This record gives sequence, C-alpha cells and structure tokens, in this order.
Amino acid sequence: MDSIRTHEVLDKPHAVCIPYPAQGHVNPMLKLAKILNHKGFHITFVHTEYNYRRLLKSRGPDSLKGLPCFRFETIPDGLPPCDADSTQDIPSLCESTTKTCLGPFKELLAKLNDTSSSIVPPVSCIISDGCMSFTLAAAQDLGIPEVLFWTPSACGLLGYMHYRDLSEKGYFPLKEASDMTNGYLETALDWIPGMKGIRLRDLPTFLRSTNPDEFMFKFLIQETDRSKFASAIVINTFDPLEKEVLESLQTLLPPVYAIGPLHSLVKHIEDKNLECLGSNLWKEDPKCLEWLDSKKPNSVVYVNFGSITVMTANQLIEFAWGLCNSQMEFLWIIRPDIVSGEQAILPPEFVEETKERGMLTSWCPQEQVLNHPAIGGFLTHSGWNSTLESIASGVPMICWPFFAEQQTNCWFKGTQWGIGMEIDNNVKRNEVESLVRELMVGEKGKEMKKKALEWKKLAEEAAQISTGSSSVTIDKFINEILLKH
Ligand code: UDP
Repeated sequence: MDSIRTHEVLDKPHAVCIPYPAQGHVNPMLKLAKILNHKGFHITFVHTEYNYRRLLKSRGPDSLKGLPCFRFETIPDGLPPCDADSTQDIPSLCESTTKTCLGPFKELLAKLNDTSSSIVPPVSCIISDGCMSFTLAAAQDLGIPEVLFWTPSACGLLGYMHYRDLSEKGYFPLKEASDMTNGYLETALDWIPGMKGIRLRDLPTFLRSTNPDEFMFKFLIQETDRSKFASAIVINTFDPLEKEVLESLQTLLPPVYAIGPLHSLVKHIEDKNLECLGSNLWKEDPKCLEWLDSKKPNSVVYVNFGSITVMTANQLIEFAWGLCNSQMEFLWIIRPDIVSGEQAILPPEFVEETKERGMLTSWCPQEQVLNHPAIGGFLTHSGWNSTLESIASGVPMICWPFFAEQQTNCWFKGTQWGIGMEIDNNVKRNEVESLVRELMVGEKGKEMKKKALEWKKLAEEAAQISTGSSSVTIDKFINEILLKH
C-alpha cells in the first residue's frame, strides 16, 4: 500500500462491532456495521468461531473475506467444541460469553492496536450487543466510548429494565408453579411508564419461574444494570412506533438512539462489496421467491418461527392441519431443528393434500420474502427482527410468541399498533385455521393490513436518507458519541 493510502486508512475511526452470537443479534449488528463503514469507519466485526464456521458453510468463504476497511475476526464462545449446525443453548451461551470472552476480546483489541503487526487504525470505539456487557471493561481499559446495541424492541428492553422492580415488588419469583396456569399471569400492571396496562404474561418470559435464582432473569438484571455505564444505547426501532417507550427508556439509561429499521436504512447503501457480506447461518433457499412470483398479490401466508423457537411434534402437526384446513396458499419455513429433540416430520397426507398450494423449505431470504407482493400475512414467533421486517413491508401478523420479549412484541402488535392477533400457546388446528382465514380474508385482517401499510409508510419515512428520524439520529449518534472521543 502506498503511503498516502496507508494514511487514509490509518486516519479512519475504527469501530469494533461484537454481536451476541445468535442469528437475531448478528443480523442487525452487521447492518449497523455496514452503515458505519459507509460513513467512513474502519470496521472489525467479531464473530464467534462457532458461527464463523457455520457462515463459511452457509454462505461460502467470499462472504467472510471482508474488505480492506471491513474485516472479520473471531473469538471462542467458551462452549465445548461442537460440529452441529443449530442454535446454541441460549442460557449456556449467555453464561459462557459472560465468563470467558473478555480475555480473548481484550487480546483481539491488543492485536488490532499493535502498530508493529497491524495496518488498521487504532480502535476508537466499541459497539457491543446489550447482552455482551462484559466488553465494557475492555472499552474502559482503552478509554474509548462503548455503545450497547440492544437488538430487541424498545418495549422488550423496557420490560427487562423493570425486572429488578418486579422482583422487589414480589412478582418474581412466582409463589408456586400453578401461578403459570391459574390466571395469575393475567395480572395487569399500571406502574410501568410507556406500557400501562400490560399484563405479567406480556412481559419478557424469564420472570415465569419459581426459582429465585433463575439464570436468565438474573442475567438480564446484570446486563440492564451494566447498560447504565455505556456511553450510549442504540435500538433498532423508529420513533413513531415506540415513542412513549423510548421516552420512558431515556429516563433509565444513558442517551438512547432509535436507529431503525436498519434493514431499510442499509438498502440505501449502493455498494456491491458490502452487499455480499451476509450473516445467514442457514443456507437460504432462493426457490421460494420464484414460487412466490407465480402467486397473486396478497394471496400467500408466510410461516416462519425464526432461529431459536422450538415446538413439540404435536404442535407442528396442529400448525400443519390448521394451515391445510384454512385452504390458503402458504410458504412454510421449517428449520431442521424446529422440533425439540427429534426430526420434524409432517403427516404424508398433509404434504399430499397441500402440494399444489404450499411450499415447504428450511430457510429463506426473509426480507425479500416479506417484501414480495404475494405475501398477505405472516404467522410468526414475534422475534423483533421478524416483527420489524414485517412492519417495514406492510404485512400484518398472527403471533405465536415463544419466549423472551416476543410476548411483549405480541402485546404491542395486538393492542397498540393494530397489526397482530395472538394464537394460544397450546396451539390447536381449529384456531390456526380460523385465525389464518381472518388474517387473509376476514374483516379484522383487512383492518390490520390497512394499519400495517400506515406503519410501513412511517418506517420508510424514518429511514429516508438525511431527513428521516432514524437517519438523522444515526448521524447524531456518530457525532455525539463515536467521534467525540
Ligand atoms: N431469517 C431469515 N430466514 C429465515 C428465518 C429467519 O433470513 O428463514 C432472519 C430474519 O430475517 C431475521 C432473523 O433471521 O432477521 C431472525 O430474527 P428474529 O429476531 O425475528 O428471531 P430469532 O431468530 O432471534 O428468534
């Protein structure tokens, strides 16, 4: 490299981006990293070795080669080595990253800052997942700002922020196991600003335990407590959608910046080199897009439960017959590991009966699917990325929340945003059938579609280059936090 170019490279601000190593966290972090790169940052993106190996398999080496100003690095996640291609156990991963990753992360930072061996600019800031707060100690050592990126919804984060209060007010732990089913979880709370009237059962699910030492409950208290020491918090949402919740968070945390939907913002970057850097841990089946091309507008229900949700073999069968009996066309993504502990097997009669109007596959390019005009509704587990991608595409939803803050997203979609209906956890084929029909051809479905299109417009406005609220906020957060050092 000639000396002028070396100079250009070394003068850039350098952001190290470290996501929590699960699909729904890596995706938005990569998008934020691309935006920062586009705005002049040198990026080091840190994967775990486990995910890096999976990405090599699902996307090939080209997607990980990186660019001169966008490099990938790895650290171990601390779990025993494993060749599987499935989502790692979340509590084990939270425990091992918290306990073991700080050392390797600091070593990586030292390597990046070692001018004798590296031709990258000195690390000037860290963007870390909100669930990887151990990284704060590394930023403090270097005296650089660290921003925590909470990848759930703002409402989900607000739920976690109140875990300590819930414990102090005696809502956690549950008194007895029967509280799970005796109506206790229906208790409405009127003291959380930004989500008045929410019921216990709509708050992030880790409070549903009689164990006072419930690991995930304690873990989230630890992470939200430590968030108070970050330089700033960023959230993948947009102002009009979660205005009150964001205001409430502003009173509890360092400056909070709403910078989403990131997948809409990143689309404005026209850089083929950045486009090829991807993060899907499963291989996408592009054939579903061709299949959708042959369908009429708003005629297909899209079914996908994300990367972590698991169900019983019986629940899978209830979904299958519900979809079949609805008589609607459907695209159903069934992850190979969706049934806990066994292979996902659908009844052959179901496959035979729906072969003309259903497509089944194991992973898809979801953003493109949701944007396809043939998609009329989405049966989802309510993960935040799926929810936001659906909102940005104007697609109404049926929600089957599985865990964590998905229940909170579901409540907001149903009661505040008018774009979702909940399906009972104990899923039955009749309910699936009637809700799918309602979503696709019923009156409620039509109202939800109208609302969804209104939100789509607001999401587009928020992502408008230079003028949209989220675009402006990203520039603000770069100038006020990342470049202030
Ligand atoms: N996704 C995808 N193809 C699939 C299923 C999921 O690309 O077949 C992506 C989806 O677009 C989203 C992420 O994986 O960005 C899932 O994140 P979400 O927060 O919805 O759920 P999680 O997997 O964390 O439960």
